[in-house]
Amino acid sequence: MDLYGGHAVISIGHSHPQYVEAISKQLKKIGFYSNSVKIPMQVELAQKLGELSGYTDYSLFLCNSGAEANENALKLASFNNGRKKVIAFHKSFHGRTSLAVAATDDKSIQAPINQHDVIFLPWNDEGALIEAFSDEISAVIIEGIQGVGGVNVPKVSFLKQIRTLCSHNGAVLILDEVQSGYGRSGYFFAHQYAGITPDIITIAKGMGNGFPVAGVLISPDFKAKHGLLGTTFGGNYLACAAAIAVLDIIKKEKLVENAQTVGSYIIEKLTDVRHVKEVRGMGLMIGVELESPSQAVRSDLLHTHKIFTGSSSNKNTLRILPPLTITKAEADQFVKAFQQSLKGQPQQV
Ligand code: PLP
Repeated sequence: MDLYGGHAVISIGHSHPQYVEAISKQLKKIGFYSNSVKIPMQVELAQKLGELSGYTDYSLFLCNSGAEANENALKLASFNNGRKKVIAFHKSFHGRTSLAVAATDDKSIQAPINQHDVIFLPWNDEGALIEAFSDEISAVIIEGIQGVGGVNVPKVSFLKQIRTLCSHNGAVLILDEVQSGYGRSGYFFAHQYAGITPDIITIAKGMGNGFPVAGVLISPDFKAKHGLLGTTFGGNYLACAAAIAVLDIIKKEKLVENAQTVGSYIIEKLTDVRHVKEVRGMGLMIGVELESPSQAVRSDLLHTHKIFTGSSSNKNTLRILPPLTITKAEADQFVKAFQQSLKGQPQQV
C-alpha cells in the first residue's frame, strides 16, 4: 500500500484506467509539437484548472518540474518589480535549480554558483517578518504546507501578514503548492484555508499523476509580453492529456472532498496513538512525529505490513502522502499496522 504517493505525486491513484486511456489515445494522434504554434489542449487545461481551483482569471504557464515552476515564478516577480531580494523560510524546500535551490534552506545542496540574495526567516514568526521587510524585497516564497521540512502548516495570521506586507511594499507573494496543492490538503490549494490570494502559485507533483508536468498560475495584474517566459517541452500534448485527465478524475470522483474526510479521519486516529508526539498537517498531507527516530517503524511497516511511508528532514517524523483515492478502510488498515509496528519497537515499550 502506497502511503507515500510516490512523493505526493500520485493524486488519482496508480494506473487509473481513464488516465491511461487519455495518454494512450493522445499518443496515437500526436505526442509533441513546438510551442511556436498554438496547442488548444493548453487552453482546455487552463480553463479546467481555473474552474476547479477557483482561480478562473489567472493565466497558466506550463513547464516540466516544480523547481522550474519556482524558478519562473521568481524570475517573473523580478521582471515585474525590477528587484532582486527574496524572502524564504527556515526548513523550506523549493527545488534544485539556480534560484529555487538558493531559496531552499539546505546549504548541502547549494553549489557556490547558486548565490542569490535570499533572506531566510523563522517559520510562523510575524515579528521577524515585519522587521525584515522593505521595499527592496522582490518576492516572498512560501510552501502551502512545508513538506520536506516535516509537514509544517503556516498559521492563518502568518499568511495574512505576508499578504499584507507584500501588498504594502510592492513585493510578489509566491505560493509554492508543488507538494501541498492539487487537493492534497483537503482544499484545492492549501493556502485557501487561510483565505488569502497569492500573486503567483506554482504547481507540479499531483498535476500529472507521474507524467512530468508543472505550471505557474499568474494573477491578471501581471501583463504578459512575448518572450517573457518560454519552454520547449512545457505543455506538450501528452502532458496536457495527462493533466486534463487528472483534473477530470479529481472532479468526477470528488477527490478533494475525499482528502478532507479521510485525511481528518487519519489525523484523528493517529493523535490518540501512544508514542506519537505530534500529528501535523491537513487532509492527506500528514506528518507524524514520534518520540524517537521513525526509521525502524517505517521499515517494519514496509517489511511486515507492505505499507510504504515517507521520511522527512526531521528524523522522528514520518510523512503520510497517500493517493487522494484512499478509503477509510485502507486508512484503518494503516492505523492498525502502525500501532503494531510501534509496539514492536523495543525502545518504545
Ligand atoms: N517545491 C516543493 C514544495 C517540493 O516539495 C518540491 C519537491 O519535492 C519542489 C518544489 C521541487 O519539485 P521538482 O522536484 O519537481 O523540481
